[in-house]
Amino acid sequence: MRYGIISDIHGNLEALHAVLEHLSQERIDRYVCLGDLVGYGANPNECVALVRELTDWVIAGNHDWVAVGLADSRAFNPHAKNAALWTARCLTEEHRSYLCSLPLKRPDGEFLFVHSTPEEHGRWRYILSPNEAGKHFDTLNAQICFIGHSHRPVVFAQDDDGQVLVLGTDFRIKPNWKYIVNVGSVGQPRDGDPRASYAVFDTEETTVEIKRVRYDIEKAQQKIRRAGLPDIEAERLAYGE
Ligand code: ZN
Repeated sequence: MRYGIISDIHGNLEALHAVLEHLSQERIDRYVCLGDLVGYGANPNECVALVRELTDWVIAGNHDWVAVGLADSRAFNPHAKNAALWTARCLTEEHRSYLCSLPLKRPDGEFLFVHSTPEEHGRWRYILSPNEAGKHFDTLNAQICFIGHSHRPVVFAQDDDGQVLVLGTDFRIKPNWKYIVNVGSVGQPRDGDPRASYAVFDTEETTVEIKRVRYDIEKAQQKIRRAGLPDIEAERLAYGE
């Protein structure tokens, strides 16, 4: 089985198109989306429609929840709040109820798909360091948990001695190890690399690879500016911050 895993699209249709075009060459059996389909970018409805058509394996993210009123935007900075209000006004009724229906987690045997942390209670915490990852490994029942949320691709592994390591973004799965894999962001990368991020997980080859793809950043920026969304949401796409 080959999984194509995407996350944090944030209404960036140009980035989503580029990623899906690359994934169409990857012999994917199951697509999974780890949430934040909307927020920040100018094409929330188009991105929701595309993802909904692509797969049933879609998880809710915090920006999806804020856009549909399931969570408040208190934790957001002013720009993110403005973008969330714009998105809420823009979403069609059909897409609003679709986003409301998304689950917070989706287990699949030894694998778990969530937006922010394995426990996922809708508190939307970040896992940024081996130390933070270690706390989640202690309670993680699955062998591999795929996450998004921070927009920074990173792989944490717990070896058979309980030691937590940071691996490269292209690795082979070992039988007695556990993994927390952040697949990065399609629509707003924040690791200094502006290219869209996604992951391919092959259960037979026992490999995970996080890949990057260039997309038409200028077009996405123009749309954000034309929509009257905060300018910073356009600017940051050029730097991947
Ligand atoms: Zn996000």
